[in-house]
Amino acid sequence: MSHEASVMEDAYVLLNPGPVNTTPRVRRSLLRPDLCHREEEFSQLLRNVRGNLLSAFGLEEEYTAVFLTGSGTAALEASLTSCLDPSKKVLVLSNGVYGERIEKIAGIHGYRRLTLRAGIGEPFELKDIERMLVSDDEIAAVAMVHHETSTGMLNPVNEICQLDAMRGRRMLLDAVSSLGGEALDPASSGIQVCACTANKCLQGLPGVSFVLLHRDELERMKAYPEKSLYLDLRNYWNHQEQGMVPFTPAIPAFYALDAALEELREEGAGNRIERYRNYSRFLRAGFERLGLEYLISPRYHSNTLTALKLPAHMTYETLHDRLKEEGFVIYAGQNTLKERIFRVANMGNLSMRDLEAFLSCLEEIIKL
Ligand SMILES: *Cc1c(COP(=O)(O)O)cnc(C)c1O
Repeated sequence: MSHEASVMEDAYVLLNPGPVNTTPRVRRSLLRPDLCHREEEFSQLLRNVRGNLLSAFGLEEEYTAVFLTGSGTAALEASLTSCLDPSKKVLVLSNGVYGERIEKIAGIHGYRRLTLRAGIGEPFELKDIERMLVSDDEIAAVAMVHHETSTGMLNPVNEICQLDAMRGRRMLLDAVSSLGGEALDPASSGIQVCACTANKCLQGLPGVSFVLLHRDELERMKAYPEKSLYLDLRNYWNHQEQGMVPFTPAIPAFYALDAALEELREEGAGNRIERYRNYSRFLRAGFERLGLEYLISPRYHSNTLTALKLPAHMTYETLHDRLKEEGFVIYAGQNTLKERIFRVANMGNLSMRDLEAFLSCLEEIIKL
């Protein structure tokens, strides 16, 4: 095999929720020239990426995007520490590992907070949220996860935004695994802040994450004290307006995001979501045929991840290792779900053929 071919071929079909399989075009973009980030070429790249990202989701008017070098958690921590009012409280909604992460970040930075917990993989009761909001007028913001990737549960952010008691309060959303995979319209829903990443449903590479910010936030943020040097969105925003970044960016990951956004524009965000939805339907029909059981009620399933109970006679390690021998990478449960479930994501540059081959392998392995 030539070196060129080995660089471009997929060694594994990645069924983990990011980093995802990318296209050859995205991987080839890494071979663009070495660049100094203080030069005009980088400013141009940054402008392109920002423009294409906002237009892919129809957000040019009311929102801006602030880019960071770091994983999705960097965007999340930057969102919370830059956009929460330290003199007020935040209501954190948590029904999984990523909800807990929001709470943890808010705790580390000393924000006063209330947490509404539903069981892992259980839906929130809207009336509980309403009650908490009504009972404490110091709550200025709600922070929650859109797609709770630890269970594959899609949380109803729109319904929550529409609650009467949300009026005058802000929504900070972890959209890391949902942007590009689920219908999400921050402008019409009234979501002021979305933390997102390049290497999940946008099909870029790890290293770049970003925050979609309502323009009103830019003014509001100015009044808050600095909580972090590296994760201060105001600093990034100020630099970005001049076509710059404050610290050395992951330039190759920006190249890849630029190519991935070109592809998103060609495909269309709506078609991307539809493609993922079709993948998940196909996989789920297969899982049901094999008699596998879902962790959560299918009515809450996202378009991009299915959490399944491990067959009684099989450990995760065995299942994982046998699938990997056949070229498929699945994902374990986190924390308390570690011994009980496995997860199959369907984000990225996949094909129905990949998924068909995966289901046949899975069938062979679990029927033994
Ligand atoms: C992937 C993910 C994150 C961030 O994970 P990183 O490893 O930091 O990229 C945050 N929230 C959700 C919902 C995720 O799926």
